[in-house]
Amino acid sequence: MIILQLSPDRRTFLRALRVLRVHPRLIYPRSVSPTPNGTPQTLLIDADDTLWENNVYFERAIAEFISFLNHHEFTPQQVRERLNEVERESIKTHGYGIHSFANALCNTFERLSVEQLTQELRERIRAFALRIAEHPVEIIAGVPETLRHLAGRHHLILMTKGNPAEQTSKVERSGLKDYFAAVEVVAEKNAGAYHAVAEKYALDADVTWMVGNSPRSDVNPALEAGLHAVFVPHDMTWVLEHEELAAPTKAGQRLLKLDRFADLTSHF
Ligand SMILES: [Mg+2]
Repeated sequence: MIILQLSPDRRTFLRALRVLRVHPRLIYPRSVSPTPNGTPQTLLIDADDTLWENNVYFERAIAEFISFLNHHEFTPQQVRERLNEVERESIKTHGYGIHSFANALCNTFERLSVEQLTQELRERIRAFALRIAEHPVEIIAGVPETLRHLAGRHHLILMTKGNPAEQTSKVERSGLKDYFAAVEVVAEKNAGAYHAVAEKYALDADVTWMVGNSPRSDVNPALEAGLHAVFVPHDMTWVLEHEELAAPTKAGQRLLKLDRFADLTSHF
């Protein structure tokens, strides 16, 4: 360990191990490490359903809405499909977040119900969505320890999309903010947003990774922007975030697929 501290250069370090007849695997026990020479990396880290639970509350609200609507012709699955369509439209005008979702629930009711959407009904439907904001932030298992490990070795930036006030409030309430050098709340996570963040912080794409649960918002656009990516799937990922994972396209670009957020400690 003293040698490692005195000599951060990997080649010199390995030479020293050879002289001491210590097999490198005893020091680097992992077969795959993106940071074999210990170069600090920049990790852009998603928040919703990566650091804390999020979509599960929306799924509960949707279940409440579907049972409240109690449609006599459409199955719950058909109602859900209509809601997904309305949400796609709602995002275009209202962005992401609870108010956009509440708006989508009311529009879906108007489209599917024979009953008129009175002010009272509107309030009741909106309440299914607004309750989500009152939910305490539930941190995913292993996240604080993992962030503590990563923050001591790398440069962490939280990158989330959505309503700035809602997202900032969750970051504050999570107790995780101090692990991050910066917090970026963007309207949409596309390749342009990743290019903009990389430019803002003068990030070197060769040592910058996006970590998150969404193929559509985290992995694919980050790869498109030339960054590396880490996919950490979540069982409850929102259906609008589903997409086939893209493959790295440039030489040296990496895509890691992990089972859990805590597995990041094996690679970084
Ligand atoms: Mg997410």
